[in-house]
Amino acid sequence: MGRTAVPFLSSIAATLLPWLNRCMEHDKHPREVSEQMISAQEALERLQAGNQRFVSGVQSLSTLSSRARRSDLVAGQAPFAIILGCSDSRVPAEIVFDQGLGDLFVIRVAGNIIAPSLVGSVEFAADKFGTRLVVVLGHSHCGAIQATLEELERPSANRSPNLHSIVDRIRPSVQSLLETELKHNYDELFRQAVRANIRTSTNHLRHGSPILEKLIASDGLLVVGAEYSLETGVVDFFDGLP
Ligand SMILES: [Zn+2]
Repeated sequence: MGRTAVPFLSSIAATLLPWLNRCMEHDKHPREVSEQMISAQEALERLQAGNQRFVSGVQSLSTLSSRARRSDLVAGQAPFAIILGCSDSRVPAEIVFDQGLGDLFVIRVAGNIIAPSLVGSVEFAADKFGTRLVVVLGHSHCGAIQATLEELERPSANRSPNLHSIVDRIRPSVQSLLETELKHNYDELFRQAVRANIRTSTNHLRHGSPILEKLIASDGLLVVGAEYSLETGVVDFFDGLP
């Protein structure tokens, strides 16, 4: 080791140690769980009431005034529900549930599929903020489901591998439906495929993540599945209700 190496190393240590100390200090208090976080049942009722307002064409004062709270939210957030929804432009969670800034932690991906980064996003919000409700939100006429049904009927060699990765995650839940009499009734097949895919995602979130399993078992976390109707604007919570 050269003569200059020791001072050089000690100057690195002097720089890094305060940073490491700050990290360790932070790790002692990594959660920002709100003391006032509502239960999963209350969160569900709040979403249902918000969707009824959306269907009736009214907005709550709380939603309308939430933009004025923007500066308050700089210090932190306490979203009362986590929504894993489809990216479809017609199904924006904040609008169909009539909620404002800071209310919902929303993760959107075509076909509301589950992949590791999406589970990680749910884990992050549930663990960090203490949010007790997770909703997988699918919808009628979902393009990702339609693409999967088309792929199963007419496999395409030219599909982008990235797009394929979405179809591959939807495929198992709809493949079994194609082996039933539903194959003769495309509309009903499509409807049931949407719901089967939502159930697959809720099951995946309930089983397979040790963090979420622990929060479900001992911290009141609830994972439910819901379908938004493009026709009526109604969100039907059909899977996992207590
Ligand atoms: Zn969709």
